[in-house]
Amino acid sequence: MAVSKTGVKRLFLLDYGTVACDLGWIIPNPSRVSERGTSKPVQWVEGPVSGALIEHRDGVILVDTGSHPEAEKVWPKDAWEYFPMTRFTAENLLENQLKLAGYKPEDIHFVVFTHLHLDHAGQAYKLRDYKPLFIMHEDELKHALYMIWLGKIGAYLPQDLEALKGANIFTFADSYLELLPGIELYRFGGHTPGSIVMKVTTDTGNTYILAGDFIHSPLELELETKGWLLGNYEEFLRGIKILKLWLKRLNTRLITCHDPDIWNKYPKAPKHLE
Ligand SMILES: [Zn+2]
Repeated sequence: MAVSKTGVKRLFLLDYGTVACDLGWIIPNPSRVSERGTSKPVQWVEGPVSGALIEHRDGVILVDTGSHPEAEKVWPKDAWEYFPMTRFTAENLLENQLKLAGYKPEDIHFVVFTHLHLDHAGQAYKLRDYKPLFIMHEDELKHALYMIWLGKIGAYLPQDLEALKGANIFTFADSYLELLPGIELYRFGGHTPGSIVMKVTTDTGNTYILAGDFIHSPLELELETKGWLLGNYEEFLRGIKILKLWLKRLNTRLITCHDPDIWNKYPKAPKHLE
């Protein structure tokens, strides 16, 4: 049977550097009574900060923009202390990652934010003047602005949001949006109120689930739990069930933003998936 074409030609994974953190942010590992009174070693893990570029018949889509190049200077001290970028060189600049895929900032038509945390929205300011359509879930934008307004900025950086003020913004409020044929956005929440999971189905019939930070590690699928980065457990559990169901399908693969094993498994720009 012929596979119906979606218009998705190539998918490039983009390398925005490496971040490190305490494993407890990702997977809970509380001490047991047998460990009472002992000091349990803290386990640190490292993973990529990644994004994607999708070549579609109807436009070029960028998914997430990585961290600000001067993250150590512009991030709040706590954010850097908990999540230091341990690798970021000129190669990880947005413009240089686009170049590896054969594109320039002015070639981007759509920028999808899986969510607006500082390691996903940090280089979006470089694209604003080229007027791409910035796409995010309405719940995410409202929550980010609300937290900033309250002064509880956490992982939302005021500068990142300021750079998008008055730009060409498209928010959706429903739980589903077909951006283009083969490019589907689902609001899963769980991590942040407007966290998006993308389903990308290529012309060759492969489906890539770009889960953003809805899950940080595939271990979360197995354990059905997340560490301190969990936002809403009901949404998380609901989304985990859906992901597991989708992953039973043929030619369907999971790609997350920060997992080192997933990252090592797939080719990165200038190579591509199709
Ligand atoms: Zn992240």
